[in-house]
Amino acid sequence: MWAKNNPAKFWTPGCTLRIAFLNGTQEFKDATIAAANNWLPHINLKFEFVEGEVGDIRILSEYGTFSSFIGTDALLQSDGPTMRLWPHPPDRARYFAANVMHEFGHMLGAEHEQTNPTANIPWDMPAIYEQHDLTADPEEDNYQASVTRQRLHEWYFDRGNPDESLYTAYDRTSIMHYRISQSWTIGDFQLFINLDLSEQDKTFMSNAYPHPACE
Ligand SMILES: [Zn+2]
Repeated sequence: MWAKNNPAKFWTPGCTLRIAFLNGTQEFKDATIAAANNWLPHINLKFEFVEGEVGDIRILSEYGTFSSFIGTDALLQSDGPTMRLWPHPPDRARYFAANVMHEFGHMLGAEHEQTNPTANIPWDMPAIYEQHDLTADPEEDNYQASVTRQRLHEWYFDRGNPDESLYTAYDRTSIMHYRISQSWTIGDFQLFINLDLSEQDKTFMSNAYPHPACE
């Protein structure tokens, strides 16, 4: 797992984050809270889930999207959602939960694991270009139907600068890793979606949000 450290976007350990649901069904809220709470045993933060528009984090239930601002970047947004979660039916509950843990990982400050400063994925870049619709207008790149090359580089190829990052060794089991199709790599490398927090995810976040040492 890794996070940018220039500046760090971590919240202050010991704080309570107020997390507001802007909309959504009770089932959506319950499933989101249950998945997000998987982080709590590993961090010195509290989550206070509320209804309405007032919160450090504001969650929008919206079809088609999972996204979140990174860490305290959420505070730069004076209104509107800071996290978007795509509700899924009960038979997709584990997939939904994995995505909620991933977005809460961003909310806690983490970046994508495939861009870990020590990642060494054998990308087949021409194949990836070929398999994406690269006709997006850079001004209107909405990362849905089509993407720009720049977006692909941000998502997959541009690794963090080790001098400006906090990181543990590249971890293909991280909840922050994208799924990787074998046709995007040279050789056999592929990766299915990770469904749980990895041991390194837990260790990294417990170091980012430490409990005070005993006197
Ligand atoms: Zn992500």
